[in-house]
Amino acid sequence: MATEAAAPAPPAPPATEWWRHVQVLAHDSLKGRDTGSPGHESAARYIAQQFAAAGLTPSGTDGWFQRIPFVEVTLDQPRVQLALRTPTGSTPLVLGRDLRLTPRPATGNVDAPLVFAGYGLSLPQAGVDDLNGLDLRGKIVVHMAGVPNGLSPALQAHGSRNRWAAMRDAGAVGIIAIGSAGVWGNGAGATSSLSLADSLLDDARGQRVGGTINPALIPRLFAGSALVWDSVAARASRGDPLPTGALTTSLQATLPTHRRTLTSPNVVGIIPGTDPALRHEVVVYSAHSDHVGTFKGPVLTGDSIFNGAMDNASGAATLMETARLVAQRGGNKRTLAFVAVTAEEKGLLGSRWFAAHPSLGTSTIVANLNTDMFLPLIPLKGVFAYGYEESDLADDLDAVVRERGIAVLPDPEPQENRFVRSDQYSFIRRGIPALAFKVGYTPGTPEATIWQAWVRDHYHKLSDDTTQPVNFETAARFNAMYADLALRVANRATRPSWRAKSFFAVPLVP
Ligand SMILES: [Zn+2]
Repeated sequence: MATEAAAPAPPAPPATEWWRHVQVLAHDSLKGRDTGSPGHESAARYIAQQFAAAGLTPSGTDGWFQRIPFVEVTLDQPRVQLALRTPTGSTPLVLGRDLRLTPRPATGNVDAPLVFAGYGLSLPQAGVDDLNGLDLRGKIVVHMAGVPNGLSPALQAHGSRNRWAAMRDAGAVGIIAIGSAGVWGNGAGATSSLSLADSLLDDARGQRVGGTINPALIPRLFAGSALVWDSVAARASRGDPLPTGALTTSLQATLPTHRRTLTSPNVVGIIPGTDPALRHEVVVYSAHSDHVGTFKGPVLTGDSIFNGAMDNASGAATLMETARLVAQRGGNKRTLAFVAVTAEEKGLLGSRWFAAHPSLGTSTIVANLNTDMFLPLIPLKGVFAYGYEESDLADDLDAVVRERGIAVLPDPEPQENRFVRSDQYSFIRRGIPALAFKVGYTPGTPEATIWQAWVRDHYHKLSDDTTQPVNFETAARFNAMYADLALRVANRATRPSWRAKSFFAVPLVP
């Protein structure tokens, strides 16, 4: 492909600055950077200061900041009443034990029949449409949480994230996933949730009840219907197509909620492009600045702060470091925007807002590169690049990693759906080619053990703090590669495009 000849990659600067940013953002005084909290506000101010120090131009709606309106809905737990009504009688359910609910702006009282919709997927492009032939008007849709065999990782990811949209369009009033028997446990689940105040950008709009049901209750849901649960469960465990149909059970729910409004900022800085034509095309670099706050239960260890050092102080630090390195090197023909997004942990909300309302004047976003929890804990032999198969940004990445002796490694866990689990997805769904990165490993190696142990023991745990054994050489080389890629994409001859065969080549939702 036609691209500019790149200058040889400069040596990677040490990770000193990067680590200083991680230490600031993950400090106990920021109390876990929960969206809307003083700690997160302070993180946002720090990032703005660093953008200023790097020489970026403020490009929010209020200086560096783009303040986003949110609504938080909380279930009034003591007043919640739940019951399953079958032809033979009514059984009360216990919130948390039997049914875990995620309250939404439309959450309220509901009394509606249940319908079983298999995997609940509507992907007619892939020949999968579990909703086909079902009457969902006024119904609550019950579905398996998994996906059938034969879907690409991207389609699995997109399909499982977007079940509700097609159900809502078909008239459904609620959605309930069947929990996994092995992991149900005793937790009560979250009883409050955050949504964008603009309901058009709220993916759960219209959802009067949404949650997960204890798998132990499922035989009772299926009793009296034409569906046989044991056979459905056996087919689901093999990833086979599932039968669907009406159940004879209804859910009655009294769901009083409290709501409050709040705001939280994205931080936006740009390096204007130098080319008179290409400067109107913007490459967006994103990383989320928020985390999950503090532990609300009884504290046993004395530590109650989710510091989020890897998730995602590390990526926000890479964003700041990339801004600094790229501003030093200069010469970007396209405009580069550095966006520290809020409310990722609440469902990619800050990036969703920015992608819908980019504070970039009349310019067009042509690509997104995102870093979330990239795990610089092992030697940097390769990277995972989520979305690598989907667009020609892969060609830019290939060129950049070759220069630095880094491989692009296949994702060994496509079932984790990481392609849609961070902020790049907010751009992808609007038709913008994107890539997201983590330090990669090869299955069966000691690096694989370290990486997987981290996810098991530290992901969203109190121990994700700055005492972890970070590999500073890996962080430094990763950051240098990221800066190379920033400049390469900013200066490539053609606008980035999806592969012709990519599912994401057609924009998915507004
Ligand atoms: Zn997280």
